[in-house]
Amino acid sequence: MNPVFEKAKPVLEKIENAGFEAYFVGGCVRDYLLEKPIEDVDIATSATPDEVKKIFPKTVDVGIEHGTILVIFNGTPYEVTTFRTEEKYEDFRRPAGVTFIRSLNEDLKRRDFTMNAIAMDKDGKLIDPFDGQKDIREKRIKTVGIPQERLSEDALRMMRAIRFVSQLSFSLEESTKKALTENKRLLKEIAVERKAVEFEKLLKGVNRREALQLIIETELFMYLPGLENCRNDLEQMLQDPFDRLSALEMWVLLIYRLGLKNRFIEEFLRKWKLPVKKIKMIQKIVHYVFARLDSEWTNRELFEAKKEVIFHTENVLNVITGNYSSSAEKWIGAYDRLPIKDRSELQATGSELMKWLDRKGGPWVKELFQKIEDAVLNGELLNQKEKIKEWVIKCNQN
Ligand code: ATP
Ligand code: MG
Repeated sequence: MNPVFEKAKPVLEKIENAGFEAYFVGGCVRDYLLEKPIEDVDIATSATPDEVKKIFPKTVDVGIEHGTILVIFNGTPYEVTTFRTEEKYEDFRRPAGVTFIRSLNEDLKRRDFTMNAIAMDKDGKLIDPFDGQKDIREKRIKTVGIPQERLSEDALRMMRAIRFVSQLSFSLEESTKKALTENKRLLKEIAVERKAVEFEKLLKGVNRREALQLIIETELFMYLPGLENCRNDLEQMLQDPFDRLSALEMWVLLIYRLGLKNRFIEEFLRKWKLPVKKIKMIQKIVHYVFARLDSEWTNRELFEAKKEVIFHTENVLNVITGNYSSSAEKWIGAYDRLPIKDRSELQATGSELMKWLDRKGGPWVKELFQKIEDAVLNGELLNQKEKIKEWVIKCNQN
């Protein structure tokens, strides 16, 4: 058995020894069958959350209302979720309530796709009532049960289906795809944050081109923030050789292809409810992408942008211009050669400037710093106290 499961096996054994059933389930079993690295091991059990808490000394309540307890075993956290069914869905987004049950089969039935509805016991035996293994072998994404029902029950599953296309290079089974087109409107009801999680995974998957193509073809884009009327721009973007960009860089490219400028950039990213830090980073990169389309980096721009932004900017530019030179390397080299990387490295302080020029503080100090910085960055002035002093006094005389 895979070492990740081997390590988690005692968790199943402890639950079984207490008189309950327990299985590995969901993404970890799927990824194991696909021979992909296993991210985290999820466990499903017939024990209720209270019963699980009695078995393990170290647990955290992370989602007890959904039946999930985090069990910390030998320092590793495992999500242990009680078998459950979901009652009738309201508003196509969230079950009215969950009911804990003792049957594994019923629990597997509520899962989204056949490939995600396989359980594995502690000895590696698979429980696969919906033939998920066959669909995995044939690289097919197929709902458990009738697609129309399952996708309308929880519209997020449509986004999940397409992000799996991107991550796994699988295809949508025909009737699943058809139901996706028919139910696209229900995506409106889904919380933006949940859509954003799936969309980011979609953006960075190996098969992102086909996934984006599907977003267009099924018209799901009409129900995604800020993309409602953007079929042409998205189609245009499909022409770009973006396969090696990071998710962050994909956002930048998307904004570029949508033709967003200035405040519309922030507005768009806010619609997606991305974290503020990420929004700021994306805005910065977009700014430099536009600047670089007009002219090369100046030393001041390199200094202000810093390494990470330079790197992302160049990666996106290469895609936009179709120019595969190693420009990122070149400009990061130029950044590395800058005589200073931060204002604090200048060999002069504000009080020294005031003393040398015999002037009281004021806005002029900041302006002068800026000039010194430019001179140092452009190689016109050495970053040495005596040289700066001479230069400052000379400037002051002219
Ligand atoms: P990943 O590798 O990205 O974590 P995953 O399949 O493990 O993929 P999770 O979101 O971690 O995805 O969900 C774990 C499992 O829970 C899924 O494999 C699936 O069985 C079930 N599941 C998750 N979301 C849904 C949903 N919206 N509807 C039905 N079942 C779901
Ligand atoms: Mg998972």
